[in-house]
Parts: sequence; C-alpha cells; structure tokens
Amino acid sequence: MHFEYSDRVQSLLQRLRTFMHTHVYPSEPVFQEQLQADRWGQPPVLEELKARARKEELWNLFLPDARFGAGLSNLEYAPLAEEMGRVLFASEVFNCSAPDTGNMEVLAQYGSPQQQEQWLQPLLDGEIRSAFAMTEPAVASSDATNIETSIVRDGDDYVINGHKFYISGLMNKRCKIMIVMGKTDPDNPNRHRQQSQILVPTDTPGVRIVRPMKVFGYDDAPEGHAEVLFENVRVPASNLILGEGRGFEIAQGRLGPGRIHHCMRLVGLAQRALEMMSQRAEQRVVFGRPMSKQGSVREDIARSACEIEQARLLTLKAADQMDRHGNKAARDLIAMIKIVAPQMACNVIDRAIQIHGAAGLGQDLVLAHAYAYARTIRLADGPDQVHMMQLGRNLAAHYGALAGQAEQ
Ligand SMILES: Cc1cc2nc3c(=O)[nH]c(=O)nc-3n(C[C@H](O)[C@H](O)[C@H](O)COP(=O)(O)OP(=O)(O)OC[C@H]3O[C@@H](n4cnc5c(N)ncnc54)[C@H](O)[C@@H]3O)c2cc1C
Repeated sequence: MHFEYSDRVQSLLQRLRTFMHTHVYPSEPVFQEQLQADRWGQPPVLEELKARARKEELWNLFLPDARFGAGLSNLEYAPLAEEMGRVLFASEVFNCSAPDTGNMEVLAQYGSPQQQEQWLQPLLDGEIRSAFAMTEPAVASSDATNIETSIVRDGDDYVINGHKFYISGLMNKRCKIMIVMGKTDPDNPNRHRQQSQILVPTDTPGVRIVRPMKVFGYDDAPEGHAEVLFENVRVPASNLILGEGRGFEIAQGRLGPGRIHHCMRLVGLAQRALEMMSQRAEQRVVFGRPMSKQGSVREDIARSACEIEQARLLTLKAADQMDRHGNKAARDLIAMIKIVAPQMACNVIDRAIQIHGAAGLGQDLVLAHAYAYARTIRLADGPDQVHMMQLGRNLAAHYGALAGQAEQ
C-alpha cells in the first residue's frame, strides 16, 4: 500500500488548508453568534463560505462518481475529509456534509433520471438540504429489520405512517427532501426484502415535526435531529427508489462510505484536540512548571498521537480496500475503523478537556461539542457492539474454516 497522495490531491489539500485557515477558523465565532438569531435557518456566514468554496472548486469532493462530483477515490478523499473534520460545520462549507452526502450517493447510484433532476441536482448545487429517516423510538433500530413504518401502495401513490427520531438535518429550514425507510412487504419471509426507501418532500401534508432531539444538551443547529411523525403521508409511486423490497440493499450501499467519512472527520477532530492540548500544556504553568514538563501530561500527549496515527492508517487501509475491491470486500476493515475511530476520538478529546481544566468543558472552546459529536458516532451508523458482533462473526467463520481445511 502506498499512501502518498497524487499531485491532484496534494494540490487540493494545500488549497483546502489555506481555505480553512483564511476563512473557516476565523468564522467559528461568527457562525455561533449568527445561530443565536435563528437556530434552524442558514447562518449567512455559512452561505458566504459555501459560495466561495464552490467558486474555488472545493466542492462535492466526497463523490467518487465523476459525472456528479470530484471523482476522487476514497483514499484520495481521506486527507481532505480529515482536514474538514477539524471544524464541526466545515464539511457543509464544501458540500460534503452528512446526511446529504449519503443521500446524494444514493440518488446518484440508484435514483431515476427524474429523481436525479428534481432532488440530486439541487443537492449537488448546495441549494437544499436533506435527511435520512430510519431510526424509530419504538424498536431497536440498530437492527434495521425491526423498523415498523409502513409504506402502502394506494393507486398511483404510496401512503406512509410511522414515527421516527434523531433524524439529522430535518430541523433545518432548507431541508426539502427526506429518504424514508419503511416496510412495503412486512410479511415477506425474507426479512431483508421487506423494506423500501422512498423520497418524501418535507412539506408533504402529514409530515409533523414533534421536537428537536438533543445530544448532551446540544441541539446541533442549524441541522438538528428531529423527532417526526408520518400521518397518512401520500407521495407519488414514482418517489420509490430502485423498487419495492430493495430498501435494505440501498441502506447497505450507503453505509460503507458514510461510516468511513465519519471516521476520516474524527481523525481530523482528534488531531485538532491533540494540537490544542499540546499548546495548552506548553503555556499553562501548574505547580511551578509548564504542564508539558509533567510526566502524566506528556504521556497523555504521546498516547493520543499514537492512537490518532493508528486510526488514520487503519482508515486509509479501509479506504484503499474499498477502492480496489469494493465496499463489500472491505466490510471487515470498515467495521474495524468504525469501532476504533469514534472511541479513539472520545479518548483523545477527553484528555484534551482534562488538560484544559474547566475551560475544556465550556462554550468558548470546541472540545465539549467535539466530544458530543465523537460520542454520537459510537452509536450512529451502527453502534460499536453491532460492528463487533458482525466482525467477530466474520472472523470466527473465516479462521474457523481455515482450521478445518488445515485438519483435512
Ligand atoms: C445525534 C444522532 C444522530 C442520528 N442521526 C440519525 C439519522 O439521521 N437518521 C437515522 O435514521 N438515525 C439516526 N440516528 C440514530 C442511530 O442511527 C441509532 O441510534 C442507532 O442505529 C442505534 O439504534 P437505537 O437507538 O434504536 O438503539 P438500539 O437498537 O435500541 O440499541 C441499543 C444498544 O444496544 C446495543 N446492542 C445492539 N446490538 C447489540 C449486540 N448484538 N450485542 C450487544 N449489544 C448490542 C448497542 O450498544 C446499542 O447502542 C442518530 C442518532 C444520534 C444520537
């Protein structure tokens, strides 16, 4: 494996870093301030940054399909996503923000020409936002076969009824479209053919937002995470993606890239925390010496650097496998990185908080919110335990079979 970046990626990375330093870091306080006036609107500074990034062709870098995006491989995108991950809202500046990225990939891969024109194009242009609605409060949604939302054919329409929560992006006023996962064939003996995914414009009658859900008290404005009811929501049958019974297949397709993108961002966020804790340790004097002279603080810094580098290399290896052998063949590595990176980021950010004292937990630094985000990713897009269950199952079967062969 060679992790040296091509000239194109090196140039993109250089331009992205310059953009972050010149425009994004200085906008962090402005972004927070503008959100105070309108929690679910688009802060003007974000619109300015997006327009500038698009003009500088730092746009849709996540999309490997060159018809629609930058055409970068996962390996090429990794250092760019890492850079964006250093600021919680930066991915959106470059139109590379979840869940829009996953939704764009689904529409690019599986959408009909009409669905692509109506919804993919405005998403690619950064004019609207979107949401992906799967999780339900009533059932264990880490096993997607449990979901209960019904999608019932009625003439030329489908009628949707259900209750979802923690639907990211849906609170935003510019969120115009949702991909909703539900069941069209709940009695199908194949549990993975019961589900379908369907496009639901957010202004469809019967879509009722109940409340914004929070994460450790953060509302994650301006995207938010909505609790939402679907009460006899009627959409045209042509809104179904790919076909009845294909929902699980689509969900599997979107999760590989989505998971690794989160891990790439978390490596960047953890790297920023490492830099912050190092700077603080050099500057802050405790008991007569800079903190960086205390052995335990040096250990925290050293351990953090090791863990970040391990996660970074594993992320790159998973990305490389996805590019060369496909998402399915890379599933064990994707599971590994999804187990490793969020926990690593939690550990590193937690140490950075400790080294910053009370300020580490406060609103003036990025660390507390960063911790909330890293902790979220231990649950979202598949909890740690589910990945461990699947990885353990695959490895036991793999090595078990090898042992069987050896004995013959
Ligand atoms: C901030 C945030 C944003 C989110 N955004 C979205 C979104 O946009 N769209 C969406 O659809 N969902 C979203 N989610 C929901 C998220 O994907 C789910 O919370 C996750 O899939 C787990 O489902 P659940 O909450 O129903 O937990 P459950 O399925 O009830 O599982 C609870 C716990 O059980 C444990 N567990 C599960 N299986 C096993 C096992 N085999 N062995 C041992 N333990 C196990 C795990 O620790 C798991 O955390 C978001 C969640 C958060 C917190």
